Amino acid sequence: MLWMVTNLLARQFGVIQELVLSIPEVPVVPCCFPFGSGENLQLALLNTAKMIAGAAMSLGTSPGPPKDTSLLITVGQAPDLFVEIPTIAALGDGFRAFCGLPSNQPSVVPSNRCPLGPYFAACLVAGEAFKHLAGLRPGAGSQLDALFYSVWDHRAYNTWDEMSDPTVTELTLPDVYVVGLGAVGQALLASLVAWPGLQGHMTIVDKDIIDDTNLNRYVLAVQDSIGQSKTELAKVYLEAAHFTAYAYPDTWQKYCQDFARPTQRPNLAQKEMAFRYELVLSCVDKNSARHAIQSFWPRILIGGSTLDLRAMVSLYDIKSGGECLKCFNPVETTATLEEFAESIRSIPADERQELYEEAGVNGALIEVYLERPRCGTLGEAALRRFQDQTQKHEWSVGFVSVAAGLLMGSRLIRMAVHGIRSAFPPELGNSALFNFLNPAPRWSKMNARVGCDCQSSGLEEYRRLWGSDELM
Ligand SMILES: [Zn+2]
Repeated sequence: MLWMVTNLLARQFGVIQELVLSIPEVPVVPCCFPFGSGENLQLALLNTAKMIAGAAMSLGTSPGPPKDTSLLITVGQAPDLFVEIPTIAALGDGFRAFCGLPSNQPSVVPSNRCPLGPYFAACLVAGEAFKHLAGLRPGAGSQLDALFYSVWDHRAYNTWDEMSDPTVTELTLPDVYVVGLGAVGQALLASLVAWPGLQGHMTIVDKDIIDDTNLNRYVLAVQDSIGQSKTELAKVYLEAAHFTAYAYPDTWQKYCQDFARPTQRPNLAQKEMAFRYELVLSCVDKNSARHAIQSFWPRILIGGSTLDLRAMVSLYDIKSGGECLKCFNPVETTATLEEFAESIRSIPADERQELYEEAGVNGALIEVYLERPRCGTLGEAALRRFQDQTQKHEWSVGFVSVAAGLLMGSRLIRMAVHGIRSAFPPELGNSALFNFLNPAPRWSKMNARVGCDCQSSGLEEYRRLWGSDELM
């Protein structure tokens, strides 16, 4: 958890000026450091932060917080000596995460090797730090007093002990295609490779290379990664853990139609001859790429995405009449504002209100525009302002993308243990969401968009590929 907290804080360029570590002198557990190392825990964390931030942030160590500290973050039990400094506490163990006031923190010594709870707690505390330091609009959002969140159930509880924490020690994941190795894809991989008992085979597809604008949210990328292929970087981490990887440094549509590429595993190669892809995880951030994935009608398709402070993971189950990955993600050929409007329309009304509140825009005007788009109206202007606000935040909210990757990792693990219906219980919905503005887990359900081909030719194609059986 300390590694992920340090990692996320060192990426908040422009929000955090100085990061000071105050860690007892204890040795490093090497598997907790996908990158970064040092003689002891404190030096290893300092090195981690340096590899990420370089000269962009002042970094140091100190036995206690300096006098002018703006915010103190405690991980686990910490001496309660600094009452004059605003403090946020966090704790994670197994699938459980806590974040809130130090006085509400449970007295627990973590023992589980599953990284999902600790990593999610790190996102929570990084989110609270961001809101505290960047400042919330008056009346918008709240700081946490106490959140007990189970990554396993995607549900909040009243106390730590109520949360279920199944012991998953050894697990082989089903063969999976991960398309897109940006912020969400990297976080997904980070959550899997840090887990000693997990193994599997992954096909990883992305055509891009890491550039300097990625470091604010790519949790496995450091200064030295700039210029490296995204698939190559991912492959190194997978193979350093107990995974095998097939890396394809180009687009998904090329992957599917490139018959000259190196040989894939025989069981997958055979299905691929018939364009059958059993389990695909969409971690792409462009709608054209989403359409390309959906158009091959994979058997199980799970997608991760973010919007401002909101992370979301969805199961696209077209046989249930639910949305597909194309339904509410129009391709980029339409006007940008209309595209943005379309994505806002797909969000349930109460969540839209929360997003307006967070951006400080006139939601009523925007709602009128969404209902009936007309150029030159106040509604159009308000929507434009909303879009600008949404994009402004993007720069420093790496914790949101990481949370989306962790939500995806948790659904994948739960599916591997108990099946897809347990990972996405139909009575709860097809999407697991988490908004850091008023931090809480939620579920929502979206039906297919009328007129989308997922309910006509797509459905026929899906049935041809997979028959009429229920999802496993
Ligand atoms: Zn659709």
